Amino acid sequence: MSATAGSSPVGVLDLQGGVQEHLDHLRRLGVPGRPVKRAAELEGLAGLIVPGGESTCLSRLLTIFDLREPIEQAYRGGLKLWGTCAGAILLARENLGETPYFGLIDIAVSRNAFGSQLESFNRAALVPAVAREPVPLTFIRAPKILRVGSGVRVLLQLDDYIAAAEDERILVTVFHPELTPSLAFHRYFARKCGLNPTGTDDAGLDPDWTPLSWTRFSSHA
Ligand code: GLN
Repeated sequence: MSATAGSSPVGVLDLQGGVQEHLDHLRRLGVPGRPVKRAAELEGLAGLIVPGGESTCLSRLLTIFDLREPIEQAYRGGLKLWGTCAGAILLARENLGETPYFGLIDIAVSRNAFGSQLESFNRAALVPAVAREPVPLTFIRAPKILRVGSGVRVLLQLDDYIAAAEDERILVTVFHPELTPSLAFHRYFARKCGLNPTGTDDAGLDPDWTPLSWTRFSSHA
């Protein structure tokens, strides 16, 4: 994949979770990426990825780092958001049995709906809005999206749950594209942010991709 035309960066919230993996995928697409730990680092971003990790932990860190209000303000100013897994939980308007955090997209999520960490799994699916070919999907103690509101489009329905959805300004996925060789969701989000990553609408599989950080351990087993 080659470079994006001169463009604003996409930020990755850098408090906990899969930060480097998202930055690595953006880099592979030629999209400028920026870790975001401080409110000032939101300045000039086209979009912000709220990564997967642990939503309770992330919500506490967002509060400690005084990032909640600045992110809401940047969103009101046009910043696009993408929540992966825990990030999707934080963005959801309804979090079953718990207090929602940002509540910015009209979806209802159920945390840990597949069971424990041991029920994590990989699968592949066709997501027509995102790629012409099936893309690999990694679910790690994922939530299920159980309902979407009228302004929200379902991008992927699987079995009894919704796995990916979007409204005008927010994308949510309950799985982790950044932990697979596919760049398709990052390409899709970059376009949603008004950026112009080149490349076709295929599954975006990068043959040079290797897992980063903790995921390396699996290849050593
Ligand atoms: N189960 C986690 C939570 O509730 C999310 C897991 C993930 O982001 N992979 O926050």
